[in-house]
Amino acid sequence: MNAREEIREPARTVPVRHEADVLVVGGGAAGVAAAVAAGRRGARVVLAERTGALGGLASGGLIVLLLSLDDGRGRQVVGGLCQEVVDRLDALGAAVHPPPREWGSADSARVEAWRRYGLVWGRAPQVVRYAVAYEPEALRVVLAGLLQEAGVRVLHHVLACGVAREGGRVSAVIFESKAGRFGVRAGAVVDATGDGDVFTAAGCAHEHEEVLPWLWFLVGGVEDADAAAAAGAGFRTPDPGRLLLPWGATPKQHRRIDPTSPEDLGEAELACRARVFEAFRELRQRPGFARAHLCRVAEQLGITESRRLLGRHVLAREEMDRPRDDAVALTGHWTRAGALYWIPFDSLLPRELSNLLVAGRCISVDHRVHHATKEIPACFATGQAAGTAAALAVAGGIEPATLAVPSLREALRADGAILDPPDATGPAQGRME
Ligand SMILES: Cc1cc2nc3c(=O)[nH]c(=O)nc-3n(C[C@H](O)[C@H](O)[C@H](O)COP(=O)(O)OP(=O)(O)OC[C@H]3O[C@@H](n4cnc5c(N)ncnc54)[C@H](O)[C@@H]3O)c2cc1C
Repeated sequence: MNAREEIREPARTVPVRHEADVLVVGGGAAGVAAAVAAGRRGARVVLAERTGALGGLASGGLIVLLLSLDDGRGRQVVGGLCQEVVDRLDALGAAVHPPPREWGSADSARVEAWRRYGLVWGRAPQVVRYAVAYEPEALRVVLAGLLQEAGVRVLHHVLACGVAREGGRVSAVIFESKAGRFGVRAGAVVDATGDGDVFTAAGCAHEHEEVLPWLWFLVGGVEDADAAAAAGAGFRTPDPGRLLLPWGATPKQHRRIDPTSPEDLGEAELACRARVFEAFRELRQRPGFARAHLCRVAEQLGITESRRLLGRHVLAREEMDRPRDDAVALTGHWTRAGALYWIPFDSLLPRELSNLLVAGRCISVDHRVHHATKEIPACFATGQAAGTAAALAVAGGIEPATLAVPSLREALRADGAILDPPDATGPAQGRME
């Protein structure tokens, strides 16, 4: 965009409406995990979210597949809050996933059965993964419950649009709202906006990607969802009459967009919604879809990546399968069975600031590692790590960036996070039957 004219905004003071030990910006998987982890450790936590709902892409984006909590070799590598979320979804009857005895199995019938739910990806030879298909509204209810139990103050409909910096720290984040601008003061801040809005406003180094837009949708009234999924029409969901359609624009249909540009986003939303409607009308022509209806289109575009922090460490592809004693989260790779990344604390820390942490899809990793760390289980794991670090630092009267990593790792393990794959510690940490 070329700004031909500029307007000088008058300097202004804004009221501080809230004070917190830990402020988490963004209520997606990473932000909720950060807020719950910090709240459970006794911190006064405010979670600020620009929409009226929790879950981000994992609910409103209809990306309703946790890919994956394992490493593709039958070992669970993401636990902690992500596992708690799965347990709570299970208790509501709102999730479907392979049992532990099937993880890592190459049995072709089992692989095909779970592939129909969208839970098996990657090249042959494929194996069954510990991945989970779930209901988006159930996830929202589960996340809200976790936040409430952890005593987190949730502010909806507030957009972080600036920061107040004092030296090498963020002393407050400025929000825009219908009630005007205001600040939230905090001892530590977690940027879980997905797009790195807080670290960008604070002037931290980052990379910026342009991507093809996606818009996933759900179709109801399907006669035989299993047969439709077998024929490649979409994925089965926990609700037997529905299919999940992971619709994405091809380069012929749409250009790559800058996911932080309102002009690009607005134009892509309109174009993709029209394309999704066309795709649904085509689907109606297939056998078994005569009574199908479009039951839900994602509320937001599927944006795989936008800004990524250039932090104290940029985790690179070459570091795959390389254990680290400063890891605060692990993740497998959804398309590469057997691959494993140890995510260091330094990938959550900007170089420039001492009390800002970053969690979720905008952490400091290279483009190829991002393919793995952007996945929802990994976002839960880095969120839990960031929130735990923030709470421990504030309680200890120190800056998060100076926290001793061994004590953070000890706290995370105590809270169920997996930092050592089972064969590194002897007995399996994954849940086995
Ligand atoms: C097309 C596509 C397919 C994918 N497929 C899968 C899959 O099958 N399985 C899987 O596990 N993962 C998948 N992913 C990845 C995964 O969905 C996301 O990377 C993950 O959900 C990101 O979580 P997050 O919490 O980091 O960010 P988000 O979910 O983006 O959450 C960020 C939150 O911050 C809020 N926010 C943003 N800016 C501000 C601001 N300035 N102020 C206040 N609030 C703000 C947003 O409203 C949002 O709620 C896919 C992603 C895409 C786009």
